[in-house]
Amino acid sequence: MLEQTALLERDRSHLLHPLHHPSATETPMVMESGEGVWLKTVDGRKMIDGLAGLWNVQLGHGNRELAEAARAQMSTLAYASNYAGSSNLPAITLADKLAGFAYPSLNATFFTSGGAESNESAFKTARYYWKRKGKPDKVKVISRKLGYHGVTLAAMSATGIQSYWPMFEPRVPNFLHIPPPYSFRFEGEIKSGETLGLAAARLLEEAIIREGPETVAAFIAEPVQGAGGVIVPPDDYFPRVREICDRYGVLLIADEVITGFGRTGEWFGLNRYGVQPDIMAFAKGVTSGYVPLGGIQISDDVRETIMTADLENRWMHAYTYSGHPTCCAVAVKNIEILERENAPARAAARGEQLLTGLKALADHPKVGDVRGLGLMAALEFVADKETKKPANMGAKVQAACIERGLLVRAIGDTLAFSPPLIISQDEVNQMLDIVRDAIEAVGD
Ligand code: PMP
Repeated sequence: MLEQTALLERDRSHLLHPLHHPSATETPMVMESGEGVWLKTVDGRKMIDGLAGLWNVQLGHGNRELAEAARAQMSTLAYASNYAGSSNLPAITLADKLAGFAYPSLNATFFTSGGAESNESAFKTARYYWKRKGKPDKVKVISRKLGYHGVTLAAMSATGIQSYWPMFEPRVPNFLHIPPPYSFRFEGEIKSGETLGLAAARLLEEAIIREGPETVAAFIAEPVQGAGGVIVPPDDYFPRVREICDRYGVLLIADEVITGFGRTGEWFGLNRYGVQPDIMAFAKGVTSGYVPLGGIQISDDVRETIMTADLENRWMHAYTYSGHPTCCAVAVKNIEILERENAPARAAARGEQLLTGLKALADHPKVGDVRGLGLMAALEFVADKETKKPANMGAKVQAACIERGLLVRAIGDTLAFSPPLIISQDEVNQMLDIVRDAIEAVGD
């Protein structure tokens, strides 16, 4: 093993990182190994993985069964094309397992390699659906500010976090954004007799009417917004969104890249609200991040438009790694373990513990908001609770947490938590002790 300085030198010389900037690569943590919720760096530091990688390592690190599933499939058939006319056993097994697994009306799956590819597939499939229905002008995609849907060009255009845009403009046309149901900082007006959830849903209806329903293909939303700051919608939001989508003929795309596979305390994020999407995008937790895999599931109605097309109107969408045998084999094993471990129930119980612990910090003068659902949670810092002005302390608390052995992610003034679903009660308490200590240390 190269010593740390030599490793960092090579990294700086030759590796371009996601969101690259030289300032961030001066002293990166170089991870060496992981076991359960614990990560070890090459310089011997040990820390709790408070974000489960990037919200994806549901089963924690070092899972031997997942490693064995990959080894076994790689030694049998590592790769095969899944283009129409060719298939493989793990892809078939996984698609069969996923049929009706998230939502009863979603029974067909197309596999991708990650979240952005899944959302690109969802947007293209929504446009395809409307063309097949004789409505070729329905092409627009509405999404929400602070939504994160990936950063390939169309996904970036749906992403509502504006800092991702400027250096890559122009964005893809026909993507627009509405405010999310962010109760701590809601941008819309709440009319008398209206709840925040219904007001936020009304913004969707108004946007559809403004644009013309005959031009809108789909609305995409994360059941709980993750990278935008763990924004949990009120319970009445998604049922009303579903009604509005139905009323105006707009497909509802659920981006469950983070919320899928147990994270929110349910198997999938919209289960809580009794709402079914027309298309669901997934990735991350489907393999606990051990190998790259994502996909979309489509409703029986959407599938029908693909199944009944003439050859010239074929669904011309594809990826080399769609239905990758090794990735699908790992996913099959991962879901088997998630079921065996009753992962959603564990996420609900540990999530409750985490949120209760974080709420106990709400008295601190700089803690403006505490929110979460299942094992997604966040603290939002403010300079002043009345004005809610930014405290500019997220990065400092993040650094103080890392110093104390907890890897967390600051999104501006919001500190986000999303540990592996297998985290123990004791480990949640250790996280809480560190966060409390870090906030005190950063102080005011
Ligand atoms: N959608 C959501 C909700 C996400 O959180 C992410 C990744 N953080 C993506 C899409 C994009 O996934 P990927 O980085 O795999 O392209």
